[in-house]
Amino acid sequence: MGHHRTRIPDCAPGSRRRIADALLRGLRTRCPRCGIGSYRAGYLTVAPACAGCGEALGHIRADDGPAYFTLLIVAHVTVPLSLVVEQRWHPPLLPHMVVAVGLAAVLVWQLLPRIKGAMVGLMWALGLSGDERQGDVERHG
Ligand SMILES: [Zn+2]
Repeated sequence: MGHHRTRIPDCAPGSRRRIADALLRGLRTRCPRCGIGSYRAGYLTVAPACAGCGEALGHIRADDGPAYFTLLIVAHVTVPLSLVVEQRWHPPLLPHMVVAVGLAAVLVWQLLPRIKGAMVGLMWALGLSGDERQGDVERHG
């Protein structure tokens, strides 16, 4: 929980506007600063620097956060969907499971780099590298 609010003017670095832009650019797997270059080198590796603007990104470590959020989202999509399909059409168990697991796998594969990009963007906008321990990142459970 522990969310403490600080009022920051909209033009300053770390402003809401800048944070929102960085997050959305990350969701498109783009660099949080320019939105043109890719934030990554490979599937999930953060590029040392953006190819578009040269902003250093390699020091930002999102650790297991993106995987955690991705699984949370995918579970919240596939589990209720499976239950609805089960109740409406009563499909045979095995094909249903194969499709559900396949769908979950595709969702994870598609979402993970985007969630990671959003998190890298957020950390970049807040000036975090992932090394600091007093992080405000919410942890559940
Ligand atoms: Zn850039």
